[in-house]
Amino acid sequence: MAEIREFKTESKRLLDLMINSIYTNKEIFLRELISNASDAIDKYHYLSLTTSDLPKRNDYEIFIEFDKKKKTITIKDNGIGMTYDELHESLGTIAKSGTLEFFENLKKKEKKDVELIGQFGVGFYSAFMVAKEVEVKTRSLLDTKGYLFKSKGTDTYEVSEIDKDESGTEIIIHLRNNDDEFEYDQFLDEWKLKNLVKKYSDYIRYPIKMEVTKREKKEGTEDEYEDVKIVETLNSMTPIWKKPKNEIKDEELNEFYKQKFYDFEDPFLHMLINVEGKLNYTALVFIPKKPPLHLYSEKYEKGLQLYCKDVFIMDKCKELVPDYLRFIKGLVDSADLSLNISREMLQKSKQLQEIASNVEKRIISRLENLLKNDYDKYVEFFKVYGVNLKYGIYDNFGLKKELLQDLILYETTNTDKLITLKEYVEAMPKDQEFIYYASGKSKAAVMAMPQMDIIKKKGYNVLVLTDDVDEFAINVMHQYNKKQFKAINQGDLNLLDEEEKEKIKTLNEEKKPLLDKIKEVLKDEVTNVVLSERLTESAVCLVSTEGISFEMEKVIANMPSDEKPKAEKILEINPNHQLFKALEKIYLENPLEIEDYAHLLYSQALLIEGFELEDPLSFANKINELIIKSAK
Ligand code: ADP
Repeated sequence: MAEIREFKTESKRLLDLMINSIYTNKEIFLRELISNASDAIDKYHYLSLTTSDLPKRNDYEIFIEFDKKKKTITIKDNGIGMTYDELHESLGTIAKSGTLEFFENLKKKEKKDVELIGQFGVGFYSAFMVAKEVEVKTRSLLDTKGYLFKSKGTDTYEVSEIDKDESGTEIIIHLRNNDDEFEYDQFLDEWKLKNLVKKYSDYIRYPIKMEVTKREKKEGTEDEYEDVKIVETLNSMTPIWKKPKNEIKDEELNEFYKQKFYDFEDPFLHMLINVEGKLNYTALVFIPKKPPLHLYSEKYEKGLQLYCKDVFIMDKCKELVPDYLRFIKGLVDSADLSLNISREMLQKSKQLQEIASNVEKRIISRLENLLKNDYDKYVEFFKVYGVNLKYGIYDNFGLKKELLQDLILYETTNTDKLITLKEYVEAMPKDQEFIYYASGKSKAAVMAMPQMDIIKKKGYNVLVLTDDVDEFAINVMHQYNKKQFKAINQGDLNLLDEEEKEKIKTLNEEKKPLLDKIKEVLKDEVTNVVLSERLTESAVCLVSTEGISFEMEKVIANMPSDEKPKAEKILEINPNHQLFKALEKIYLENPLEIEDYAHLLYSQALLIEGFELEDPLSFANKINELIIKSAK
């Protein structure tokens, strides 16, 4: 009895996309099905090596057949197969989260983009690009019964029990009829199928076989030929990372990357690392051009694929990748890892840790080289992934700061190009004590900060920090090359000479009553009100004491945490500004009015710092009163 079920909603939509896509690269269905077959054999192999009572085998293969009359193509594997439940879970639902989302986004865009689908792993459903009906006959290694799945790719599919001799899966594609737009019959051709296998699946590690026709000399004759059928292996089977380095073409690696890691663009760079010695391994690492889907979400899983003596062990071995390199893709193949240890043990394995740390070092040194020899390309990399490196500095209390600090590029107020800390420090004038930095939305915003007044006058360069993680990373670094970091709006800048300092000090004492009055009004908001050493053009500014900075206050405010520490704020007033003169006058003539003005000053200083006002209405009302008053 056949059981009929509906596809899950997501699946229906993906199927619909597959069937109705205007997409021309239909041929990739074969690659997808072969790659599924290869995965299934991987799983069988791994299981049989790690479970003692399972039958071992060494005749793994993927077999392709076609039938011109019936218009079918069959892809058969002797891998792990699927149980009844797996059949529903795997083929009735979309396995990969985000897949549908991805395609729907593509669909909305230009047709050009739609063509990119072909580079992306579309999985089993891609069969429906060429099939009017698909049959899947499967039997799991762990089951005695076989099942037949049948679907026309519409709303439903059908599952029934069948007899099947051995474990594995057979996928039968009933090709659609040719139409004006596409000739489906082209796949019913030996040469065509052979070429597709070569093109897309050459590196598959199991033989992909097909019965082919060969013209051979008729036995016992001189020049008579006949067609004979022989079974041929179509792929070369060498995993690409096992080939001698000088025989691997860049295009091959790029192609491999795109197929294996579901990208539609060539990678930004690739690295093939062969290590021989006490511990032998090969690592093939790619940095994608664009950040992988969901890179910054919790559901993203970092990791490299792990192979041991060519046997696929796991897909995302996270122990191989430090968090800050979570965007890398690739694989590690080592003959020195024990196959039989459990995955939990593997994760604690010394060898694995050693490989991980070597791979990390190699990637870092590759990036250092890139920065040194191809600045533009490094900038391209940094714009996409720099924030991860900064996070790497901050993570683990700065454990990796030495390793990473020279890879960080900064925008600065005095230069047009992004520079390293090394370049910054080398260009520092003799009298400059600190590495200055300022957080802001953009370079322009930083340039406009009142706290820049004195820095501009001195001509010092300032790092412009625009990422949330920036200040945290800088705090962890604390210093670079014995030069301490200093925020231009935090603590004492110490930029005046003794005489100037003395002058401000005396002035502060002289104007104490007024400053104390303002301080009293703002006692819930600021810890101090002083005449400023750093303002030359602007009227007022807020600075924070050492400790929590404004930027940190803002970043933390956006984080889901119960504790929201605040920066200690000091209001600085420019003693040489007209505004201060006006305040003095008001204080003398109408001391009560100072209260309103103090609040206004504080509010504008907050706005300049990019904070929101708690009570914008009262701020607006006070300004209105002022305007009305000035018209009287
Ligand atoms: P993906 O391969 O990316 O997970 P697919 O849609 O291609 O997505 O396949 C979904 C699932 O169906 C696979 O993860 C696998 O569990 C199962 N599957 C597909 N083809 C086979 C096969 N030939 N043998 C065993 N299982 C398979």
